[in-house]
Amino acid sequence: MSNNYDVVVIGAGPAGYIAAIRAAQNGLRVACIDEWQNRDGSYAFGGTCLNAGCIPSKALLESSELYHRAQHEFKKHGINVPGVSMDIAGMQKRRAGIVRQLTGGIAGLFKANKVDGLVGHGKLLADRKVEFTPVDGEVRILNAEHVVLASGSTPIELPSARFDGSRIVDSWDALEFDEVPERLGVIGAGVIGLELGSVWLRLGSKVTVLEAMGDFLFMADRDVASAAGKDFRKQGLDIRLGAKLTSATVEGDVVKVEYDDAQGEQSIEFDRLIVAVGRRPYTDGLFADDSGITVDERGFIDVDDECRTRVKNVFAVGDCVRGPMLAHKGSEEGVMVADLIAGELGEMNYDVIPSVIYTAPEIAWVGKTEAEVQSSGRPYKTGSFPFAASGRAKAMEQTSGMVKVISAADDDEILGVHIVGPMAGELIGEAVLALEFAASTEDIQRTIHAHPSLSEAVHEAALAADKRALNYMNR
Ligand code: FAD
Ligand code: NAD
Repeated sequence: MSNNYDVVVIGAGPAGYIAAIRAAQNGLRVACIDEWQNRDGSYAFGGTCLNAGCIPSKALLESSELYHRAQHEFKKHGINVPGVSMDIAGMQKRRAGIVRQLTGGIAGLFKANKVDGLVGHGKLLADRKVEFTPVDGEVRILNAEHVVLASGSTPIELPSARFDGSRIVDSWDALEFDEVPERLGVIGAGVIGLELGSVWLRLGSKVTVLEAMGDFLFMADRDVASAAGKDFRKQGLDIRLGAKLTSATVEGDVVKVEYDDAQGEQSIEFDRLIVAVGRRPYTDGLFADDSGITVDERGFIDVDDECRTRVKNVFAVGDCVRGPMLAHKGSEEGVMVADLIAGELGEMNYDVIPSVIYTAPEIAWVGKTEAEVQSSGRPYKTGSFPFAASGRAKAMEQTSGMVKVISAADDDEILGVHIVGPMAGELIGEAVLALEFAASTEDIQRTIHAHPSLSEAVHEAALAADKRALNYMNR
């Protein structure tokens, strides 16, 4: 077995495994090392995204939404399904099956692309040598022409709410609950708080979300955040803003939570508490002191716009470097560095990365929010279209939300698109392409959209930016 590689990737999450596959497609000799171990003791490629993040959370969101709709929406369609009940073990079996299939798929892709998938710990030493400690077998020193660090991230733990793996848990544990908690607390109304809060709410928990910030979804456009906030509250999510956690302690089977808000000191009890206050880069044991790698004050590996670290021919991608912690951002960085290593053109457009929150309604956006455009000083126009006026949304019985387009008033360039509503995560694709091609509002206006489709709402919002919406009153 040769220890010499053109590229050694440490980490097989969406950033690392994609970098490895693209590098192999570019004709390079590649190894990809990963140590991820699941709760059942098995090792798997795919990182957080496939094992404990994007994929299992979407599996549960789908199951719980179908359950909710069977209970609350089917009747309107004339479908009577009395006595609908939820089999949590069945739901969890499906989730685990999807994860197993997809992570196994990566092992298959490695084989097909002749990437050596190595199971164990990787550590960058000086001079681009990588120490590989397999889960079974002897330590090997790999010689790499290029190294890609893709070690990902891990949940932030609050000193006032230590994880115990049972009552006070992180997102991974919260994906694997085997029963519906009667009273569920969530610290953080961010992406994970809203997605996992929605899952367990739909399955019957009474869910209270404590959010430190005074603004709901502060990173989203205000119109979208406010529409989504109203909808979530109507569904029964008890979102408490400006709530500063002081302590969370487990007493028997109960989690006692103390927090301060505008009204003063508060206390509340839960059966389980999910802490979802963000993630931090994970670089434990990733590089030796003399490797030359540096990190910033928050622990992210220092890289430039092309993901080059301070060490020649060593790159870092994904959650362990600056930028949004999103799977597709990491994957595209992986493609970029694999192409740069092969001497090809590689670049990332960090201004055009879509964000999607997979709640119901979904929330999705790309580009700038109205507040960002406003503070840039550039004159702008906006156009909105509510799904309540969409024939397809009505047929789907999913009429809440809207599409909002923000465009430059000077040259008509589309600056941001914000959607809250059905399939927002799919609809945003058109907007991403539009921004990537620096499209004008008129480009979308003149593009034929199928009827009846949800995408007509994007078309109408673009028309509304010039007060030319055809199926809605222009304001
Ligand atoms: P990771 O996926 O974290 O992978 C890093 C890998 O490196 C791990 O397998 C780890 O074992 C391995 N590793 C680390 N150090 C070493 C070492 N020294 N040796 C060997 N192996 C090592 N993002 C989205 O875009 N869409 C979503 O819908 C979404 N949903 C999410 C839901 C949840 C609940 C969570 C927690 C996250 C979600 N994310 C989502 C975020 C997404 O999971 C991350 O952005 C993504 O996984 C980052 O990819 P990565 O490859 O950088 O890191
Ligand atoms: P987040 O940054 O989305 O949200 C964390 C929330 O916790 C924020 O609203 C923050 O104000 C709040 N918070 C922080 N400290 C707090 C405290 N002490 N008390 C109360 N509230 C507090 O982080 P997350 O939800 O943990 O998600 C982590 C990462 O995973 C995110 O970067 C996200 O991009 C990614 N993720 C993405 C998706 C998706 O793309 N659909 C889904 C899940 C996770």
